[in-house]
This record gives sequence, structure tokens and C-alpha cells, in this order.
Amino acid sequence: MKKQFQPETLMMSHGYRPEWSEGAVKCPIFQTSTFVFDSAEQGKGFFEVAYGLREKGAKEKPGLIYSRLNNPDMQILEERLSLWDGAEECAVFESGMAAIATVLFEFLQPGDLLLYSNPLYGGTDHFVHHLLPKFGIDVLGFHPKASRSELEKILRNSGKADRLAMIYLETPANPTNDLVDIAMCREIADQFGHTDRQTLVAVDNTYLGPLWQHPLKHGADLVLYSATKYIGGHSDVIAGACLGSAALMTRVKTLRTFLGNMIAPYTGWLLLRSLETLKLRMEKQAENAQIIARRLINHPKIENVHYLGLLTISDGDAFVTYQKQCTSPGAMVSFEVVGGEPEAFAFLNHLKLVKLAVSLGSTESLAQHPASMTHAGVAPEDKLAFGIKDNLVRLSVGVENVEDLWWDLEQALAAVPQNGALNVHPVGKTMANKPEMVANLVM
Ligand SMILES: *Cc1c(COP(=O)(O)O)cnc(C)c1O
Repeated sequence: MKKQFQPETLMMSHGYRPEWSEGAVKCPIFQTSTFVFDSAEQGKGFFEVAYGLREKGAKEKPGLIYSRLNNPDMQILEERLSLWDGAEECAVFESGMAAIATVLFEFLQPGDLLLYSNPLYGGTDHFVHHLLPKFGIDVLGFHPKASRSELEKILRNSGKADRLAMIYLETPANPTNDLVDIAMCREIADQFGHTDRQTLVAVDNTYLGPLWQHPLKHGADLVLYSATKYIGGHSDVIAGACLGSAALMTRVKTLRTFLGNMIAPYTGWLLLRSLETLKLRMEKQAENAQIIARRLINHPKIENVHYLGLLTISDGDAFVTYQKQCTSPGAMVSFEVVGGEPEAFAFLNHLKLVKLAVSLGSTESLAQHPASMTHAGVAPEDKLAFGIKDNLVRLSVGVENVEDLWWDLEQALAAVPQNGALNVHPVGKTMANKPEMVANLVM
């Protein structure tokens, strides 16, 4: 009987055989641009499959041709990543933005409508608002707390519902942890879908994946990652991934071949290494985050804590969505310091252990100020609508000793003046709003 191993067990072995590489226990870095064919006939056969001129035989492995098309580090990484989401196939990219841009370009065409949840990651937001319209694609955003009937209304009022080609989601929303119900969006996609072309649901799962939320199981067609974050987990690579059915992924991989934005062998190898400790890291991060979030809510200089682990039945739909869609509250916590931007800055400036930096999901804890950093380009009225306040701090909890982390947070909070004494600026007027600012493009 063959035992079905769990993904965390398979991260050390799946898809690689030591006899391929002189018995090396680990997959080496295949730092090569091209691969030698045994014969001209074999080379011809590899190209026939790669170019879709014929179906791959049942026992036939796709032949290695050229590292823009395939490479062992890239393919083994794709096979291992697929296990967490239970996806048929995966494509890895040199950045999260490369994965997102490739998916949007492959599945949208002039005249199409894209419906997306707000707020989007800055880079995605820029792509949606500045690149897609150049190609005649209409875009429409919605509030992450919108109900099903509100979504239907937004679509109907747009007059473009019959052209809905994709619903694009980020859930939990960054930085507020608002949740969007993926299964509900699947139903809307089917309700408004074309008869000749399915409306796709794509989910950026960077915040909770690949461990704690599996969008494909809730009806999504495509899952996207910035592998720079939890998957890489050490703040030392930029990478991305997309997962879905074999049919959709063939299209994604084909466009990747021609854009040439695939992952490099060395980056792929680093991520193979990261995957071996993915579950250990993420579980420790979530354990730390739960302790910290519970202590933060009781701190007199904290007004409000946004963390999935603090949702209760009184949060209504958010709690229901959390229970059916997420398997852990994760390790992203955001909170409002009593006061405004000066108090939030005083806190950030006094941190000694936690690093003041954007990005997330790494072994070290990182803190930043969304209103002036990752979300600097969001219009003031949208900041207000999405809860990106001047006193909001976002914390990505790492694997450090939790008492050391708490010591740091407490001493930095102690340095914050009492009762918002520094908050001389009226809320909403402290930030210059320049949507074209480059700051909008960083995480
Ligand atoms: C960081 C991030 C991205 C972009 O990924 P890169 O690897 O920086 O290109 C996209 N979406 C989310 C949610 C992110 O956090």
C-alpha cells in the first residue's frame, strides 16, 4: 500500500531523484541555459510537446530544452508548490508582479471588464489602473465588506456586467485583514459569466497561503503568490507563483515563455530550500502573532487591533467567512496607536528588535506605516473608506522569541506620548496624496 504523505513531508523529496545527480541528496542548482538532446529525433519530440503540436504520451516526461521554457529547479519547485494548494499545475516567476501581470494579460482582452476587491497591493493597483486601460480593459473596484447584493448592484449599475471576464481578489485585505468570501465571488462569476467564456476568479493568496487558505477549494480558478513573502520567508529573494488547472496553466506558461519572466535556477533553488521549513516557520509566526495580538488589545495606547484571530461571532459575515475559508488567523497584525501619525511614527522609531521595513512573511518581524508607506498612493477618501488611518501600523510577526518581541513592542509603546498629545494634524490632512508616487509600488 502506498502511503499518502503530507506536503511538509514531501518538501524534502517530491519530484527529485538523487540518481539524476550523482546521488546528491539535494537537488543541485541547474545553472545552465540549454540542455543536450540524446538524438535529433528526441529533440524533435521535445519540441512537438512543448509547442503543443501533439499531446504528451501518458508515460512521456516533458523533455528539458532551454531554461526559458523549463529547468529542473523551476519544475521541481512547481511540483512541490502545487501540493499545498492541491493544484494541478503551477508556474513560478521572477517576482509576484510578474505572475500577476502575466495572468492579467493572458486572460483579459480589449472590451473586457475586471472586477476587483479594494484595496489592492500597490503594484497590482498601478497595473490595473494604468496598464489595463491602455489595452481597452475596463476596471471596477469594490469594498472588501460589500455584500453579495451590493456586488450585483455595482455590476448592474456599471452597464458592463455582460463583459465581466475576471474577478480579482485579495483576501485578507492588506493592511486591514478584511475578508472577501471567495465562494460568493465564484457564484457571481457564474451568474454574470458569458456562455462562450467562463468568468475567472483569481485570488492573490500571499497573506495566508499556501498553508492557511486554499482558494481553489472555494471555487477560485487561479491562485497567485508573491513568493517573496512567506514562501521565500527570509527576505532574500523576489519571486512569484501562479497555480490552477492544467488547461489554464498551459496558457499562463505559454505567455511566460514568450515574456521570459520565469524564475532563474538559483532563485528556484533558494525557494526549494525555503519550502523545507515553510510549515515550521509559518506555524511559529502564527503562534507568536496570536499571543501578541491578544496582548495588544489590552494595551492602553492601542485603540484597535485588526487580526483574524480576534474575530468573534459578533463580527457577523467576517467571522462566518473566516471559519469557512481560513484554517489559521495567520501572522499579519495591524493596529491603531492612540493618536495619529506622530504617535504611530514615535512607536516605529523606537522599535529596537522589530525592523522598520515594508514586505512581510519573513523570519524577522517587520513593521511599517501603511498610510505613508505601502498605501501612500491611495486617495485620502479611499484611505478613509478602507480603514487605512494615520495611526495604523502593520506588523508582520516573525519567528523570534515571543517575549523578546513583546518586550520590544512594549518599550516602543512606552515611548509614545500619552493620549495622542502629538496629534496636532487633523486626520486625513497630514499626508500629501500623489497617486503617481513610486511609494505606491512597494509592499
Ligand atoms: C509583495 C506582494 C505582491 C508583489 O510581489 P513581488 O514579489 O514584490 O513582485 C503582490 N501581492 C501582495 C499581496 C504582496 O504582498
